[in-house]
Formats: sequence, C-alpha cells, structure tokens
Amino acid sequence: MVIVMRPGAPESAVAEVSEHLESLGYILHVSRGVGRTLIGAVGLPEIDKAATADSLRGHDWVEDVVLISKPYKFVSREYQAHDTVVDVAGLPVGGQGVVVMAGPCTVESEEQVNAVAERVAQAGASVLRGGAYKPSTSPYSFHGLGEPGLRILREAADRHCLKVVTEVMDVRRVDEVARFADILQIGTRNMQNYDLLRELGQTRKPVMLKRGMSAKYEEWLLAAEYIATQGNNQILLCERGIRTFETATRNTLDLNAVPMVKSLSHLPIVVDPSHGTGRRDLVAPMALAAVAAGADALIVEVHPDPDHAVKDGQQSQTPSQFAAMMTMLARVAEAIGRRLLRPEAQ
Ligand code: PEP
Ligand code: MN
Repeated sequence: MVIVMRPGAPESAVAEVSEHLESLGYILHVSRGVGRTLIGAVGLPEIDKAATADSLRGHDWVEDVVLISKPYKFVSREYQAHDTVVDVAGLPVGGQGVVVMAGPCTVESEEQVNAVAERVAQAGASVLRGGAYKPSTSPYSFHGLGEPGLRILREAADRHCLKVVTEVMDVRRVDEVARFADILQIGTRNMQNYDLLRELGQTRKPVMLKRGMSAKYEEWLLAAEYIATQGNNQILLCERGIRTFETATRNTLDLNAVPMVKSLSHLPIVVDPSHGTGRRDLVAPMALAAVAAGADALIVEVHPDPDHAVKDGQQSQTPSQFAAMMTMLARVAEAIGRRLLRPEAQ
C-alpha cells in the first residue's frame, strides 16, 4: 500500500506512521517529493491490509491510503488514475499533445548537430536527441565525444528553441549530463542497472527509461519504480523494440506496449521506431502507427548524411524524409483528437 501524507506533514508524523507500519512488519520506501511525502509499504500479504489502511486514514497527517495489488506501486495506474504529464523544462510530455524528439544517433561534430537541429526544428520537432556517451555492443566501436559532445548538443538546441535528451550510462556522470540535458535517457542495456536507476531517482530531471531489449512489461515498470521510489516521478517509458526470432529487422517494435502499458501505468509512453526497426524505410510507417496507437512522444534518428553516419546510419532518416513524415504525423494526431506540439505552440 502507499500512504500519501498531507502536504507539509512534519517529520514527526512521517516517523510515527512509519514506526507503526514497521512494527506490523512492513518494509518501507519513503519518497520525499516536492510537495508531499509518500510511504510505500510492501510485504505481508497475510495481514489484513484493509483494516490497517482504515486505521491509517484516521491519522491527522495522512491524506490517503492506496491499496495496490501490482508489484510496482508508485508507477501503477492503481496508484494514480490520471495520466502523468512530465514537465520537460516547460514542454509537457503526456496529456493531449504529441511530442517529437529527433536528432542523430551520435554527436559527431558541431556542424553535423547544427545542421540536424535546424532542420528538425523547422519540421516541428521540439526535442533534440543525440548521444555524447554511447553504449555499444562492441568495445571497438565509437563511444561518443563525451562532455564536448554534450556542449555541442546544448548549444545547437538552444539556438533552435529545442530541449535536449541524451543518454547517461554511468552513475559517476549523472551530474555532468544533467547540467546539459533536459531529459536523461537510460538506454536499453542499462534498464536493469539498479544503481543508475536509483541515482537518477535522486535528481529532479525527467528520465526516459528505454525498455530492455528482452524485458517484460513488469520488469520495465519495476525498473521505473526504482526511480520513483527515490522521489522522482518525472519518468517517460520508451518502447524501442525487443529481440524476437525475426532477423529481417533489427528489433521487433512492440506496439502492443503502448495501449497495454498505458493500462498498467500512468506514465507517458515514447516510441522509438528507429531502433525498433533498424531500417530507414520502416521508420515513418511505424511512427504513424505508434501515434495512432496512443504514443505520447516519438524519438527518431535523423542525420544530414545518413550513409556516412558514425552510428546507426541505416536507420537514420534524412532531414527531408523526417519533414515529410512530420506532415503525415500531424494528420494522424489530428485524426485521433491530438496535435503535434510544436516549439512555438508552447
Ligand atoms: C540510442 O538511442 O541511440 C540507443 C543506443 O538506444 P537503445 O539504448 O535503445 O539501443
Ligand atoms: Mn542509435
């Protein structure tokens, strides 16, 4: 169960409720958010939870007690019925608008990032993507420009009124990446890096948690719960394709995830059709399908010269392909009663 304390509840009240729950044998996760303290109490299925919840509701400083059957609590729909809208430095992700994030797989140079930023902003993207720290299956691949890459990304984004999403791979680099980024991305290979999840839970920056390539929905939501238990509820879930028996595409983009995970969780869902397919020609159709299915945002790889990209050129759109896709996306969004959120519309 989750105990929601009233805004401004003193530490003595939190301690009193916590001690009571601990005396009953519960294991507690106290999350001190901006306005409120939440106490997650897990364990003890044999105890009469309903009676415990009723007695806690009588406490002066307890606002509500929510009983949750799922193993993940704070991120579950049972805990919060309404959709979370994540505040990306003033840009709302979730809710009625559809947000598009676009940019190169990897930050290669100032010229490359500037060229992409200009074109994707013109076409209506509101967030610039790009990796300065790159995870790679091979130790011999390029691993990113590091801090100079972050600087290039931030400057290009600011020039074109875009926000920045970029990956952080290492707990030792969280502060550095957070200085430049508006959204901290956790890559598929790190979805179960629990120390990293906890560390990002300590920040107050939005986190985009990519689904592990072999992770079930429950494992993905439990990973999000690691972030939420630290007090950061600004979480975006990103479906980026999973490993299946099919080898014609790089991954299989699991669009079931969009309506299914939305029924399990209140968090916004982002879809990545670039890694989800691995093929430039499949990105636009799958992006359209994702928005039709209810995705709150897309993240798409775009490169000024994809055939000479350092990484993931085969799945990167040219700026003109991206612009053509954006025109169609606007129509699909409108058809389902939503609209593309353009930077100037905020
Ligand atoms: C990326 O966004 O470039 C990336 C490496 O993504 P993923 O972690 O989904 O492979
Ligand atoms: Mn990539």
